[in-house]
Amino acid sequence: MSDEISKTHSVIADNLAAIHDKIAAAEAAYKTQTGLDRPVTLVAVSKRQPDDRIDAALGAGQRVFGENRVQEAQGRWVPRRDRHADLTLHLIGPLQTNKTADAVALFDVIEVVDRPKLAKALGDEMIRQNRQLDCYIQVNTGKEAQKSGIPPEDADDFIAYCRDEAGLNITGLMCIPPNDEEAAMHFALLQTIAKRNHLSILSMGMSDDFEEAVAFGATAVRIGSAIFGARDS
Ligand SMILES: *Cc1c(COP(=O)(O)O)cnc(C)c1O
Repeated sequence: MSDEISKTHSVIADNLAAIHDKIAAAEAAYKTQTGLDRPVTLVAVSKRQPDDRIDAALGAGQRVFGENRVQEAQGRWVPRRDRHADLTLHLIGPLQTNKTADAVALFDVIEVVDRPKLAKALGDEMIRQNRQLDCYIQVNTGKEAQKSGIPPEDADDFIAYCRDEAGLNITGLMCIPPNDEEAAMHFALLQTIAKRNHLSILSMGMSDDFEEAVAFGATAVRIGSAIFGARDS
């Protein structure tokens, strides 16, 4: 290993260890508050990161990764799947209906189900490929025009549609709070919608606010830059 590669490896291993410590502390605080054990999954967001950083995270034992583009993820993960059979790949970026076949073939979890046409296309494709993926509903808690996600007031009906009509295995909810607002109220809203729909997985919290998300019951946090550093733009 060159010095530069081994430096990358140790920086990323240290970042991962520090985040695991913070998650463990946040889990313990949640347990003290609520009496509930909520193990939190760290989804390492590898979009637009160079290969050496991805391989460093793999070397440090990280196995759950999030990507926001199907094509970019294929290039990165199809070869690495051969070397690591125990990977879990989450799609966390908007999915076009014409990419559902590729998405179902590559990913294990689709976090971004947000409209009936996509739900139906995913359900049909999972039957065709005989692959039943876990799916989360993305909720646009801030009702931002530029963001994907179902509006919060439509979430209950949409969850029912996905389960009953589209045949999807809906196991959780995901949100991306607006940049310019308190994230806490969005985390709380997502938790409320999950509870009344009997969903146990909450994907919320990123590099800057994951500990707060865990305090509101997150079971999966999606962290990119705090692990890997700044992304290519
Ligand atoms: C990029 C991205 C993240 C990670 O963001 P960081 O601030 O780098 O931790 C999390 N979730 C989604 C949906 C993203 O697109």
